[in-house]
Amino acid sequence: GASGFVAGETLIDLFPSASGPLTSVSGFEHRPGGAPANVAVGVAALDDAPGFWTVLGDDAFAAFLSSTLDDHGVPGEFVERTEGKTALAVVTREADAERSFSFYAEGTATFDFDAAALPVSAFEEREWVHVGGVALADEASRAATLAVVERARDAGCVVSFDPNARAELWRDAATAERVLGEAVAAADVVFCSADDLALLGVDTDAARERPARTARGLLERGPETVFLTRGSEGATAATRTANEGNAGDGGRSSDGSGSVVVSEPAFAVDAVDTTGAGDAFTAAALTRYEPGAGASALREVVRYANAVAALATTATGAMGAIPTPERVERFLDDSGR
Ligand code: ADP
Repeated sequence: GASGFVAGETLIDLFPSASGPLTSVSGFEHRPGGAPANVAVGVAALDDAPGFWTVLGDDAFAAFLSSTLDDHGVPGEFVERTEGKTALAVVTREADAERSFSFYAEGTATFDFDAAALPVSAFEEREWVHVGGVALADEASRAATLAVVERARDAGCVVSFDPNARAELWRDAATAERVLGEAVAAADVVFCSADDLALLGVDTDAARERPARTARGLLERGPETVFLTRGSEGATAATRTANEGNAGDGGRSSDGSGSVVVSEPAFAVDAVDTTGAGDAFTAAALTRYEPGAGASALREVVRYANAVAALATTATGAMGAIPTPERVERFLDDSGR
């Protein structure tokens, strides 16, 4: 299996017991979260456990998160412990199932990353390194995350990036667009949801109507491969190809511009909780992605990641919901593969 490395925050998601405005919510459930942590746990469930660089504080939540990572087989080698509290992401569930996050993160240990603390050997023998955009919103985690990207590149790893757009974390939209845009340009593989596109300054209505064109547009910003996740619509992926004019698949994969685009519908499931669906997709895709993949290999990656993400929506929580590899295989067999 591919050997990967994830860097980023592990925090507590506070889930309201009911949907609606927080002023009328009577209780919360605490769950392990943080998009990079979700990805690390997902990769560990599906494939070889990745290295995971994260910073935990010294409060009860940090102890809970530490044992959660242990339970999911994420190695503690790069898990730092420091003085301080754990960041909280308070979730609001609107009636239409849209979620929003409110972060209680200032001064917490959660974002206390110092690139100098990461061993130089961390990226040796790693095929890919994945980071997310939440840690880019503020210093010092921004500099640390950018240092990870740079060192991963130097080590010859595939650099993967998910903007994880949380508009409220950013000082202003222009800063978010600039910093996230630079990370997109520096990455080899980029995972984008509709929210991410909005923060990157991409027209989300156009993206909904013309996902292939949007994916190609993102390739022009620098990455080799882009995955657009489109919720219950499925996902689209675009990748550069050296083989211009390659017919690809179905005639809609190549326009001679040196890229192929594939789209796959979502799997029909009874979704009960879509929290972390994007992270499940990312984890699954990272375990299967090979640089230089052609249209049919890329389509298989998207199909597999759609299956993992669909299964993840059928259970609650972001971490506990990742299916086993056997479950994914059975699901794919049953759906007429
Ligand atoms: P995020 O969770 O980051 O907002 P999306 O909503 O785009 O990301 O979902 C990520 C992926 O999860 C989709 O590309 C799809 O494969 C899967 N997915 C999401 N919602 C559903 C659903 N209702 N049914 C089946 N699959 C889903």
